[in-house]
Amino acid sequence: MKTIQKNNPWQRALQQLRSATKRTKIDPLLALQLENPDRVMEMSVPLRMDNGDARVFQGFRVQHNNLRGPYKGGLRYHPQVDMDEAKALAFWMTIKNAVVCVPFGGGKGGIAVNPKELSEGELERLTREFTRKLTSIIGPEVDVPAPDVNTNGKIMTWIADEYAKTIGKPSPAVVTGKPIERGGSEGRTEATGLGGSYVLQHLLKKRKLDPKNMTVAIQGFGNVGSYLAKYLHRAGFKVVALSDSKGGIYVPKGIESIDAVEACKEKKGVLAGCYCVGSVCDVSNKDIVGAREISSDEILTLPVDIVVPAALENAITEKNAKKIKANIVLEMANGPTTLEADTILKKKGITVIPDVLANAGGVAVSYFEWEQNRKNEHWKKRDVFARLQKLMSDATDTVIHVSKKRKVSLREAAYIMAVERIASSTTSKL
Ligand code: NAD
Repeated sequence: MKTIQKNNPWQRALQQLRSATKRTKIDPLLALQLENPDRVMEMSVPLRMDNGDARVFQGFRVQHNNLRGPYKGGLRYHPQVDMDEAKALAFWMTIKNAVVCVPFGGGKGGIAVNPKELSEGELERLTREFTRKLTSIIGPEVDVPAPDVNTNGKIMTWIADEYAKTIGKPSPAVVTGKPIERGGSEGRTEATGLGGSYVLQHLLKKRKLDPKNMTVAIQGFGNVGSYLAKYLHRAGFKVVALSDSKGGIYVPKGIESIDAVEACKEKKGVLAGCYCVGSVCDVSNKDIVGAREISSDEILTLPVDIVVPAALENAITEKNAKKIKANIVLEMANGPTTLEADTILKKKGITVIPDVLANAGGVAVSYFEWEQNRKNEHWKKRDVFARLQKLMSDATDTVIHVSKKRKVSLREAAYIMAVERIASSTTSKL
């Protein structure tokens, strides 16, 4: 057995997996299969820049496991994308899809690039070239990519277009997270944040806790963080702090309008200084709303009831875990808590709602999108949300049940349940 390296996401994933397989009676061969992705692909993605310069970027796709269905998982464009990160994220997709019981395996990939430094034309050419390299290994029944950090519906449309050109016919189910007019599902954009709010509310209901006025701090104000903030605010939680990569705001008496803060961030490009009174947002309102600026790290250690990492991996480490004052950590980012931090949070009695449950709303609606594409249907938003709520609440119930029965944390319960579901989906002895 290989040794575990600290803070390497893939090594952490392996540790989480081994801790679950120790507690189950699965075939050791299946355990080994899950420790080794089915296929990893690393490719060069050459790009002619607008000014004529030639550059090359590294692209990755990891197909972790497909025992429960086609590989499924996002594509991330970020300078820190590498093979170990992609392997970990692909593995977490295998687990997540089993936790919420959708018929997919796990995949993940991306390009090591800062897309903010590219023009729209460069981004499109890069994506189309990446797709040409991926075409032989993706497809609606094989591997279905989706958006992740710094990728979106437009990028998914370019991928679907390029894929259709290569295979000679339209095949919208090759990717999910598409714009509605290109075969996307109603509610996919909001799904991850909304799904997280369903999980949190269901857990609080089970514990007979009233969400009204519970305070929440959210690190990361992209797709996931912004929708989560809106839905929690709507459900009566008091969202007191928000941050993005450049900093954040702390309003102890509660942010009045998440929409106003979002509009301000869109206009200014950063969230810092977005103190809103009505629709007027300006740093000069700081004293009126009784607020202060906050760093993206400090946000995690504020005196709140619920803290939400919704940005990148390794946000909660052994350094800041000791300082966390919240009773609940809702993991909306993938892999936001290191192993050491997880142990500290457990000792402190903090409830961690694990990423593989909390942020599964996105892949759940991706599954609904894939189903609609294959059946040539278009479901109403309220039907999508009703299905999402049921799926997330059922998964939460099962994780809580396993956690109580086996006397393990919610994370351990989710992994045990996923591994057992994967095991029961195969009778192969290889
Ligand atoms: P996004 O690109 O839309 O937003 C990321 C946000 O994080 C931005 O606000 C960015 O400014 C912020 N950020 C980056 N570095 C930060 C730092 N060091 N401190 C504070 N904020 C920082 O991405 P997203 O789609 O919202 O994804 C966020 C997380 O959720 C990722 O871990 C992703 O893998 C996970 N996730 C996303 C989805 C989805 O459907 N989009 C589904 C499941 C999981």
